[in-house]
Amino acid sequence: MKHNTYDVVVVGAGIVGAACADEFAGRGMRVAVVDGNSVGSGATAAAMGHIVVMDDSEAQFALTRYSQRLWEQLHAELPSEVEFDQCGTVWVAADDEEMAEVWRKQKLYKQRSVPTEVLDAKTLYQIEPNLRAGLVGGLLVPEDAVLYPPCAAAFLMNRAQKGGTKLCVGESVTHIGQGRVRMANGLEISAKFIVNAAGTASAELTPGVELKKRKGHLVITDRYPGFVRHQLVELGYVKSASSSTGDSVAFNVQPRRSGQLLIGSSRQFGAEHKEVDQVILARMVQRAQHYMPGLKQMSAIRIWTGFRAATPDKLPLIGPWPGDDSLFLATGHEGLGITMALGTAHILVDHITGRIPEIPIEPYLLSRVSQEHTHA
Ligand SMILES: Cc1cc2nc3c(=O)[nH]c(=O)nc-3n(C[C@H](O)[C@H](O)[C@H](O)COP(=O)(O)OP(=O)(O)OC[C@H]3O[C@@H](n4cnc5c(N)ncnc54)[C@H](O)[C@@H]3O)c2cc1C
Repeated sequence: MKHNTYDVVVVGAGIVGAACADEFAGRGMRVAVVDGNSVGSGATAAAMGHIVVMDDSEAQFALTRYSQRLWEQLHAELPSEVEFDQCGTVWVAADDEEMAEVWRKQKLYKQRSVPTEVLDAKTLYQIEPNLRAGLVGGLLVPEDAVLYPPCAAAFLMNRAQKGGTKLCVGESVTHIGQGRVRMANGLEISAKFIVNAAGTASAELTPGVELKKRKGHLVITDRYPGFVRHQLVELGYVKSASSSTGDSVAFNVQPRRSGQLLIGSSRQFGAEHKEVDQVILARMVQRAQHYMPGLKQMSAIRIWTGFRAATPDKLPLIGPWPGDDSLFLATGHEGLGITMALGTAHILVDHITGRIPEIPIEPYLLSRVSQEHTHA
């Protein structure tokens, strides 16, 4: 690195760190990014790339919707390898109870100006003819999208570099704080602001950050163009994603531009090894086949795992670290970091530069977790 003093050093070049670097650079700040591996190689490389509005909480809704709109605005600039496709999400209802959830979601989204379409069974089968018989309907959210996360991170990082950002890959950071970033090679960089965007490793750099690894499996098939047209998710997904204990699987299938299908999803706490877990994989694939029997005839070409960084309340940690004016967090995005990356970068950089953010940062500050713990 030519200079060793910057306005900002971002630690971590996943999608969140890349988005932050791009946003800081776009506002004229001198930025460096350090990653122990390479750009987009952590959870970002393992992700499905579903850009999705979610409504587990108002805070989750606000950041996912804000971010989804930012991705939409960026669409025209994204190179083809990012494979941005606004295919929409279909939330699939298997019974009347889940159909009631469709109507609840539709009402909430309508109140918040998110376009949706309630699908009866006939319309559901018209738009997704390969779903199993007997489903009762669904909810189409047409502004949701999919993209290829490692290329999206690379695009953001390239743009940051064009804006003057220095990128240092293959260099592990061992210590951050009080305006200093120390690397394993002994080099030290100083900066007015440091952003810890190290994903699941954030707590190693900032002890006290409460994060757990939540393992996930994904399968990609050979090419079957047109078999699936939207990102399909069972409504039971919300229950399994928000469970804070135990292993869970849910039907979650994505069409890729190549005609391949990405099949998820699984969630496991306490599984720290990267190896494919055959038991959970079998459960996940069976769940997908239960919703789409035609998947049984398809060939899988690759299976992989990755780790989500989960906070106790599943919301990310964005904002200052107490007791150190130089240190900021942008981490803990669990299963929504691809979606939330752009919104995270905007509100963090707004906060640091004294601008009023388009959505309030307060729900994502560390203080909300600490307060909960004090009152628990
Ligand atoms: C199976 C699976 C499916 C998913 N699907 C989706 C989805 O469809 N939609 C969605 O929105 N999200 C999804 N996610 C979540 C998403 O992948 C993450 O939330 C997101 O990638 C987090 O990005 P990040 O930049 O915070 O972390 P990462 O991508 O993990 O990046 C952190 C970076 O920090 C670097 N680093 C760590 N420690 C150090 C150190 N000491 N020194 C230097 N560098 C360091 C690492 O090398 C890494 O590059 C999924 C996750 C998984 C596992």
